[in-house]
Amino acid sequence: MVQQRKAVVVGAGPVGCLAALMLAKHGWKVELYEGRPDIRLLSSKVASQQRSINLAISHRGIAAIQSVDPGAAQRFMQSAIPMRGRMIHHVDGRLDSQLYDRDGQCINSIDRSLLNEDLLEEASRSSNVRVFFEHKIRSVDFENKVMTIYDASQSRESQVSFDLCVGADGSYSTIRRQMMRVVRMDYQQEYIKHEYIELRMPAARDGEGHPVFALDPNHLHIWPRKSFMLIALPNKDCTFTCTLFAPSSDLDQLGTAENFLTWFETHFPDALIAIGGKNLIKDFTHNPRSPLICTRANPYHYKDRAIILGDAAHSMVPFYGQGLNCGLEDEEKVVSFKPDDGGMEDVGLRRALSRYSQERHKDLIAITDLAMANYVEMRHLVTTPLYIVRKALDNI
Ligand code: FAD
Repeated sequence: MVQQRKAVVVGAGPVGCLAALMLAKHGWKVELYEGRPDIRLLSSKVASQQRSINLAISHRGIAAIQSVDPGAAQRFMQSAIPMRGRMIHHVDGRLDSQLYDRDGQCINSIDRSLLNEDLLEEASRSSNVRVFFEHKIRSVDFENKVMTIYDASQSRESQVSFDLCVGADGSYSTIRRQMMRVVRMDYQQEYIKHEYIELRMPAARDGEGHPVFALDPNHLHIWPRKSFMLIALPNKDCTFTCTLFAPSSDLDQLGTAENFLTWFETHFPDALIAIGGKNLIKDFTHNPRSPLICTRANPYHYKDRAIILGDAAHSMVPFYGQGLNCGLEDEEKVVSFKPDDGGMEDVGLRRALSRYSQERHKDLIAITDLAMANYVEMRHLVTTPLYIVRKALDNI
């Protein structure tokens, strides 16, 4: 009798959850380890403080989810808000709608925690998947295929064996660092000079006091100001999540919340009206200023026993809205390189992982570079006359 092989997936973010589901579907016994507590049990306040509240999911990400779990893809699309173009906000109050596609293709604003919780729920329900929270991977012995895990709830370490280790543990991946000890991995990490801070734009009220969107919900709103910018994505509850991207040195110079308010009013007057001065000061004072990191690695695997996916393999700046889309697509690509002579569980796994590293690398480098270049486009080029004419011609 053939023994069922065991995969350990590290990190229950969206990429790790989808990887667990994908492997379970291919007959693997899966253990999914997450260092944090179960996000489904956190209050919405704590959960929303962890990471940006919404993100843009494109066809790339939806198709990847669909290939593993069509039901989940359908649920996400029902809860998503389509964004058909950019809405450029000029300082003088002028608005300029630039559609993404003349045939109506769009990107979708989706609740990040809903996406993660749904995939986690699906993984937890699979009979082939066991999920462990507050279990942090500390080290991996790839030769003997065992990893050391710290269980914070019991304050104790244990050893877990595996046939395949999947690192989906984000930008600061422990699995990647452990792999670097045995793989001749090229690795590059870059912080850009800009950081981001999230601000909440509340719902406006209609004549009867019902919540309504303060801005057109079917656009991704951008306030491009050359060296910095503000963006806003819609949420189902009629609020917008705004993200301010600016050089750290500019924000340092502003210093106090009062200075920030004056600066914000000068550059984003219409956004300030919709957000409200008090809300702005509250968010500026309480919300973290977070760095933006870009990482590149090569290769992504080790022999037949380890692979890194998602941000663990390729963090990119968020200006193309493709970081997660790409991470979800990683799983689809791994499966597409499965051995010709059988499924993911067969002997050709080493060859499949190696092909994945070789063939995926150029795409990941391309999207990482495009994401970096798109920052200049979003914060500046979209307002230049040549760009506007070119966009208009594209849409004829
Ligand atoms: P993560 O979401 O980081 O999950 C990793 C998980 O691993 C975490 O739960 C962590 O607790 C766990 N973990 C870490 N170390 C260990 C360990 N040692 N043991 C056990 N568990 C561990 N992408 C888009 O596609 N569209 C967008 O619009 C978009 N907008 C963005 C906006 C901003 C401001 C930022 C910063 C990013 C944005 N992204 C976007 C990128 C997207 O957020 C990431 O690509 C995505 O979250 C990566 O998912 P992941 O599952 O690979 O990693």
